[in-house]
Amino acid sequence: MSKAEEERVEEIIEKNIVISFHDHAEVFPEDPSEFIEYERIGRLWIGYEGLAASGLDAFFEGLQDGIALMRSMDPWDWDNVIHQIGMVQADLDHQDLVFVARRASDIEKAYREGRIAMVIHLEGPPNIREDISRVDILYGLGVRCMGIAYSRGNEFGSGLADKIDRGLTDLGYELVRRMNKLGMLIDLAHAGDKTSLDTIEASKDPVAITHAGARALWPSRRMKPDEVIQALAEKGGVFGVEAAPHTTITKNNPRHSIESVMEHFQYIEKLVGIDHVAFGPDTLFGDHVALHRAFREYLALTSIEENLPPFPRVEYVDGLENPSEYRNIIRWLVKNGYSDQEIAKVIGGNILRLVKRVWGE
Ligand SMILES: [Zn+2]
Repeated sequence: MSKAEEERVEEIIEKNIVISFHDHAEVFPEDPSEFIEYERIGRLWIGYEGLAASGLDAFFEGLQDGIALMRSMDPWDWDNVIHQIGMVQADLDHQDLVFVARRASDIEKAYREGRIAMVIHLEGPPNIREDISRVDILYGLGVRCMGIAYSRGNEFGSGLADKIDRGLTDLGYELVRRMNKLGMLIDLAHAGDKTSLDTIEASKDPVAITHAGARALWPSRRMKPDEVIQALAEKGGVFGVEAAPHTTITKNNPRHSIESVMEHFQYIEKLVGIDHVAFGPDTLFGDHVALHRAFREYLALTSIEENLPPFPRVEYVDGLENPSEYRNIIRWLVKNGYSDQEIAKVIGGNILRLVKRVWGE
């Protein structure tokens, strides 16, 4: 980039609230053979230094993405989930940069004070069975965004790895009502297509897809069909484009890099407009590809990657490897002719508008 372009990027970061819709701001062990033990112990190492360099004012921290195994082999075990929510906050309370966002104004506060707000985001609900009132407990512990189903379905609905999508169940409808009542944002990133459409229709509030891409560009179940993206936008929801290795690939850019990611962004922007798209890069500090290898079964990757056309494997996503590289998205947008106003929307404005509506100011 030219010096003038670099200056414009810095100015944009300074003037606007920058939010990631989905990341894992954790530092993973350098040796991948230690990943399972790291998850089993369940003490999260937050990458504060990397976050400080990211330009972010707020980020949705994806907790319990199906791999924390502290107390039992069921990652969605209630105790496992509570363990992780408590442990991350025990860490946060020993420093001053990052704090938990409980309302939309906390994100504005983080921006004003030069700090960073962490939104506690569960990628799927814990195993609470019929006890919907436990969602209130999660809310009380700071959870402000939660998925309906992780890749494999549950008592509420089907996940994107399920062969048959049964749609939102009766209990799922109850969960949606409870989340609406509490003001907890619903995330459909890992839900199946029918479950997603049912939820969008059932929810009083607009909902989110915090991290995914367009299936029109890459035929993976991890990606969302136009029908779901359009229904989400019509209801006022926001779609976060993701960058975890080997997800948002395209036929033009099969070697996963920031270029493939931005192709998904441009497609979704054209499909539903600039007011409904954002970024949830889904990155971490460490070897993300090795992490996928270690937890392949838990993440249901085998069934998600079934029947995909062949594509080259990468060691990391060039340009979007970890949360501190969020600013490369802004660089790309500047380089590719987006206006300051358009950039402001997609790097945070759209997400802030949505959470103000769902959480309340
Ligand atoms: Zn995820």
